[in-house]
Amino acid sequence: MFADLHLHTQFSDGTYSPEELVSQARLHGLSAIALTDHDTVEGCERTARACEAAGIEFVPGTELTAEQDGNELHILGYFFDIENPRLLTEVAKFQAVRQNRIREMVARLNQAHVPLSAESVFALANCRAPGRPHVARALVAAGLCATLDEAFERFLKKNRPAFVPKFKMSAAQAIELIHHAGGAAVMAHPGLNRTDEVIPGMVEAGLDGIECFHTKHSTATSEHYLEIAERFGLLVTGGSDCHGLSKGKPLIGSIKLPYQHVARLRLRAEQRRAPIAVSP
Ligand SMILES: [Zn+2]
Ligand SMILES: [Zn+2]
Repeated sequence: MFADLHLHTQFSDGTYSPEELVSQARLHGLSAIALTDHDTVEGCERTARACEAAGIEFVPGTELTAEQDGNELHILGYFFDIENPRLLTEVAKFQAVRQNRIREMVARLNQAHVPLSAESVFALANCRAPGRPHVARALVAAGLCATLDEAFERFLKKNRPAFVPKFKMSAAQAIELIHHAGGAAVMAHPGLNRTDEVIPGMVEAGLDGIECFHTKHSTATSEHYLEIAERFGLLVTGGSDCHGLSKGKPLIGSIKLPYQHVARLRLRAEQRRAPIAVSP
């Protein structure tokens, strides 16, 4: 039995609907999947229903954008209550921040004589957590850039004219928020950040696990983070980070995490919710 614990849908910057995602999961023979859209939990209900119909276990999740020592980090949350009021208030704040950021990016594009409207980005994104990939897609759709890569290279990358930094909560705040909602917190794709020095601080803040297996991790990178997991007593997770068809071939199916890791993660979340009952 295998799982994929890192997947995106149209509720953030993926292209699949929840139903399409689940049918892909089924094609790849996955037993369990987690939905981890950026700064939202909106797609969880529909994905849970589609999973139930397909006989796949659904793990509620999200991917929060955070910051530690000046580095952008992504913190995955799993097995929390998707109706937790504080979590919902916080993600709503982040969605507002994301929408303002889109307006700012578009204003900068306009200053650079690129006639894109914020409305066209929102219409295309059609979700509450719009981001740079949506601006890139809108630029291509409007014929202002030939490809998504060109949009990033010319305008959207760091140090390009339409780059706007993201406001982020601290990694410790993200971890605390996930714990507050009854979940387990996991550092996403550490191999992409290459900022291992932030790990001890996050462990101190209560980090539960680390995403050792990721599409962009080489075998050596995965092994490196398996060692780190062992050293800090962190749980091991993995996922494809599939965004559907937005970046060429869909990545779902590229990571098959042995199911035992899902069971351990669920147990950790349960322990976090009932710390007295399980203390030795
Ligand atoms: Zn990420
Ligand atoms: Zn992701």
